[in-house]
Amino acid sequence: MKKKSSVLLIYTGGTIGMMQDLRSGELKPFDFKALAQQIPELNKFDIALSSIAFKKPIDSSNMQPQVWVELAETIEKNYNKYDGFVILHGSDTMSYTASALSFMLENLSKPVVLTGSQLPIGTIRTDGKENLITAIEIAAAKEKGKPIITEVCIYFEYKLYRGNRTFKYNSQHFDAFKSPNYPALAEAGVHIDYNRNALLKPKGKKLKIHISLNNDIAVLKLFPGINQQITSAIINAPNVRAIIIETFGAGNASTQDWFIAELKRAINKGIIILNITQCLEGKVIQGMYETSSHLKKLGVIGGADMTFESAITKLMFLLGQKLNNTQIKKLLGNNLRGEINI
Ligand code: ASP
Repeated sequence: MKKKSSVLLIYTGGTIGMMQDLRSGELKPFDFKALAQQIPELNKFDIALSSIAFKKPIDSSNMQPQVWVELAETIEKNYNKYDGFVILHGSDTMSYTASALSFMLENLSKPVVLTGSQLPIGTIRTDGKENLITAIEIAAAKEKGKPIITEVCIYFEYKLYRGNRTFKYNSQHFDAFKSPNYPALAEAGVHIDYNRNALLKPKGKKLKIHISLNNDIAVLKLFPGINQQITSAIINAPNVRAIIIETFGAGNASTQDWFIAELKRAINKGIIILNITQCLEGKVIQGMYETSSHLKKLGVIGGADMTFESAITKLMFLLGQKLNNTQIKKLLGNNLRGEINI
């Protein structure tokens, strides 16, 4: 007899499990039992489902790296017991969590699918039911006894995406995520149609989790008229180990002397500077314009087509390892988990 697939559901909070506070009208996270009661369909699955709920479910705007560590450890502890994992999570920071987990779970060979919803599961028009049910089906899906998906993904509104390629782009539509620089991994219609060529292949090595993350990172979003004093305060903030500069177009920035001098001073202090474009699609090509050649000469690292979410969590991950700056700079530009096209 074919063995049933088993899936572990990890509930962290988010709108999917929220209910309206009768007095204030605010949406607040609710416990997992209340959520499960709203989906009797879960009992009809031919999948062995278990669940773990965080003691205090959170709105994902309160997400912290410590919770990512808890998630990675929960997955490691249960890795051999289940065929796949579904993480219920608020959509606001879901792309950050998915990106962080992709780096923290090295040699992943089972599906980790994050999902949530824009409307609470108790509301009539909720998008939560379909999202959750299909996410579970994907986490349980096997072919010739092997899991089809072996990476960290986001399932939302009929599409499965590589988590570290996504960002939340719409706060109101059910179709809340975009992955402009990488195709969807699957689309759910009558059948779940997997985009086989786009999937990451398992490495065949043992899962190794990385739980040391370093968040000594500053972000400088450029705009015409950016103030030197404020720029300098950001770059020279105490303990900064890396700075992401969010540049224009294909990675371009001002060539004003003071700006170059600030970057130079930071680089001389050993601060790593990563260049990510403000454009949502396309990539950083340092040297394409005169307005990015100076960055390349200074030693700024080009982030190619990485999302901001991926760039910041990749930096947290790399800064947390025992690596020197040369190694970190090299790895930033390398493809570690399908997050960058080089
Ligand atoms: N504020 C909510 C959260 O991220 C929004 C959602 O779940 O969609 O937790």
